[in-house]
Amino acid sequence: MSTRNEFYKSCKFLSLLGQHILLISFGQFDKNFLEQTAAVVKASFGLPVNISINYEELTKYYDPMRRQYDADKLIKYIQFEYRRTDAKAIGLFRVDLFIPILTYVIGQAVFKGSAGVVSLFRLKNELYGLPKDEQLLFERFYKEIIHELGHTFGLSHCVNPACVMHPSIYIEEVDQKEARFCMKCSGELEKE
Ligand SMILES: [Zn+2]
Ligand SMILES: [Zn+2]
Repeated sequence: MSTRNEFYKSCKFLSLLGQHILLISFGQFDKNFLEQTAAVVKASFGLPVNISINYEELTKYYDPMRRQYDADKLIKYIQFEYRRTDAKAIGLFRVDLFIPILTYVIGQAVFKGSAGVVSLFRLKNELYGLPKDEQLLFERFYKEIIHELGHTFGLSHCVNPACVMHPSIYIEEVDQKEARFCMKCSGELEKE
């Protein structure tokens, strides 16, 4: 165990105490996969993480021209639907998400807000003609969830390619970063 790990373990962003995180699945997700994801997110922030299953019909968020789902509208839905929970709520999706100015998004969140979304769609090896890799998919998924949560807790993008707050447009950038905040981002999380 490195000193750096010890640091993350002991601090756990004291300023965030009292908050909690809600992971909401939209669509079919394996129960173990969700529970393992929740465990990693919990360890990352040192905050309670709850899982919720949502059965909202997604067709109204579907853009037939783009054949994708509108991330901004989904975030608005989550903000409204979970407004009483006093938690950072991240919607987990399997479908392809977009925002108007981009071809697609892996995830999106409201800066210092209460909601975000992350999709598995662009994280699957199969999309890039590579063999299926469940472990890699799991790692990519929780990195992106931690990233979007970072935005809700007031963190901006980070230039450090190993930091979880580094933006990932391409899958290579997801793989390049670690599932943790660099010292700078970690410090900002403390100050929030
Ligand atoms: Zn981001
Ligand atoms: Zn950073």
